[in-house]
Amino acid sequence: MQHKENNRGQADTNMYQITRCRNCHRAIIDLDRMESVFKEFFEQTDFTNKQLARLGSTRAMPHHIFRVAIAGCPNSCSQPQIKDFALQGQAVPVVGEGCTDCGRCVAACPDQAISLAEQGPHIDRSLCLNCGKCAQSCPTGAIATGNIGYRVLRGGKLGRRPQLAQEVCSLTDEQGVLQWLQQTIDLLHREGQPGERLGTLLARIEKNDEKHST
Ligand code: SF4
Ligand code: SF4
Ligand code: SF4
Repeated sequence: MQHKENNRGQADTNMYQITRCRNCHRAIIDLDRMESVFKEFFEQTDFTNKQLARLGSTRAMPHHIFRVAIAGCPNSCSQPQIKDFALQGQAVPVVGEGCTDCGRCVAACPDQAISLAEQGPHIDRSLCLNCGKCAQSCPTGAIATGNIGYRVLRGGKLGRRPQLAQEVCSLTDEQGVLQWLQQTIDLLHREGQPGERLGTLLARIEKNDEKHST
């Protein structure tokens, strides 16, 4: 992939790529909005030219593209686990009054996190992924949607040594997502070797930290 420069010395091809899932009925977050928030961030921070400067070349390979994913819910159809930076929509279920014991929430939960007791539904929070399906399926509002936010992951990649992205925060807001993105790009451009993927850099830093703590 060759990146030409225009007459202002800027690259004609973006050095970032945003993948998003479709606007399906499971989407907890506004996918269109988050896509434009990311685009605005990369444009305003002149990411493409900074990334090319880090490479020391306008000849970029596909693995030099910074890959971002937006997933509307934890189903992760846009594969956030293998992207440099990604977010998933989250909705926390809140248990209230009025359960009629219909069992719809139990059937709807893909993670078997709900059991019904005399007092109503019980949610095992260690199993719950905050997907919002139980609240969507409850006809009485005995399970309702509480906090809505974003789970942020980073450092995923395929290639020679694939690795899954790691969660850096959960249930944050748009501002929190942008702070993590800025911190991540700063780290990549400050510490990353030319051409190094974010996931490789994070693994290298972790290894160094472990070496110095022993
Ligand atoms: S990740 Fe969720 S919101 Fe996005 S397409 Fe898949 S099921 Fe729908
Ligand atoms: S939010 Fe999703 S994972 Fe959690 S209890 Fe409800 S249906 Fe199950
Ligand atoms: S779907 Fe709602 S009303 Fe039905 S069992 Fe679950 S909490 Fe109770």
